[in-house]
Amino acid sequence: MLDKIGKLSNILYESYSEELLSSSLGTFFKDNFGVSDFILDIEDAVKAVNLPNRYPIFNNDKYLGSLEFSSMDDNLSQFLKICEKFISIKIQNILLIKKMQKDVNYHDTMKNIAKIIETQYELKYIIPIIGEMLDKFFEDYLIYIFLKDDSTGISVLSYPNDCKDENILNITQNLQEKELISEGKTYVLPLICEGKYVGSLAAKSTEDVIIAKDREYLEQLSNQIAITINRANVYAEILKHATLDALTGFYNRHQLESRIKQEVSNAKRQHAPLCGIMTDIDYFKNVNDTFGHATGDLVLKTIAKVIRGQLREYDIAGRYGGEEFSILLPFTKINEAQMVAERLRKMVEDKVIDISKVAPDSEQKEIKITLSLGIYEIKENDSEDDLIKKADKALYQAKNTGRNKVVVNYD
Ligand code: GH3
Ligand code: MG
Ligand code: MG
Repeated sequence: MLDKIGKLSNILYESYSEELLSSSLGTFFKDNFGVSDFILDIEDAVKAVNLPNRYPIFNNDKYLGSLEFSSMDDNLSQFLKICEKFISIKIQNILLIKKMQKDVNYHDTMKNIAKIIETQYELKYIIPIIGEMLDKFFEDYLIYIFLKDDSTGISVLSYPNDCKDENILNITQNLQEKELISEGKTYVLPLICEGKYVGSLAAKSTEDVIIAKDREYLEQLSNQIAITINRANVYAEILKHATLDALTGFYNRHQLESRIKQEVSNAKRQHAPLCGIMTDIDYFKNVNDTFGHATGDLVLKTIAKVIRGQLREYDIAGRYGGEEFSILLPFTKINEAQMVAERLRKMVEDKVIDISKVAPDSEQKEIKITLSLGIYEIKENDSEDDLIKKADKALYQAKNTGRNKVVVNYD
């Protein structure tokens, strides 16, 4: 007996994870007590198979899990009574480590969301980042984020691109604003900030029922997400009335649109040429994914600076969307605009961007990126919208035919 206790204590000492402990104990019980099958069933991890002989493990009065054996004789049961305390301490340790690791990940996720709150305000950009973070954190869950469309009041799936789960679609469509729904493997939480319902977060377990701790994480994260969304909405409202984009100093989308109107009508009135250039950074998502969003922001700023440096006083540059810039060139014919665009393309291509300050952990200290551009010169019969629309069509073609190039739309 003493010899077996010695062996067990070695195993306990050397097993630092649940998997290791489980397999070492399995071998130990087989070699020493002739047990052919053994399962270590820790806490909530419900297993599909249950073996006939269960030996529950408690610490004080708290249930930690159980040892399950295909067979158990008096010898084994006596041995377990003696060693129960050692095993219980080990299991408790493993549970603690697991919980701490999950907590560390949780705090990382929280911290990252907090960082997004501080720096980003565009929902179409924020939501995928949050979604990906949640996916990483809740490995055993499918995560969906729905946003309430203020004009229609309807919940719209915002992450990921597709949801095939009819039940979740149904629940989120008919969710009463403050209601929380928990049905077996599905958990849907309303996103509420300052009493305002902004959307919902749905989680579906791919394994077993949702455990209490995950429910708690989901609830706390949903609060943080609701704050982020609410702030983005408020921010967007403020920015609509502001003139300049905070990151680049260019006109924001709203202001850009009114400048386009003005310029198109000026050009028509004066029968003067007017060109529009649409630009889009190539593989920009990779920059964010590889080096982080601060690097992405630096790239945007850098490109904005290059563009500004190339423009004349009366040219107009605006941030059309996340990483898309629009440039208006009044009194400019298509062949001149093409030269401007080509010069810009080349300057961006040659630009070495020092990322050591914004991505201090990255081994790579400098990066280079490229830009695709589309150009269009407005015609007599075009409407205001045509300038950007037709330049965008050329941009699309530039993207589809290799990127890092200028394409003219001669429509
Ligand atoms: P493509 O060559 O086809 O344009 O590839 P892409 O990766 O650039 O294309 P996509 O349009 O899918 O990616 C745009 C990305 O721009 C998504 C988002 O991560 C990023 N983005 C948009 N706005 C911002 C911003 O303000 N800051 C940062 N860092 N990233 C932004
Ligand atoms: Mg884009
Ligand atoms: Mg792009």
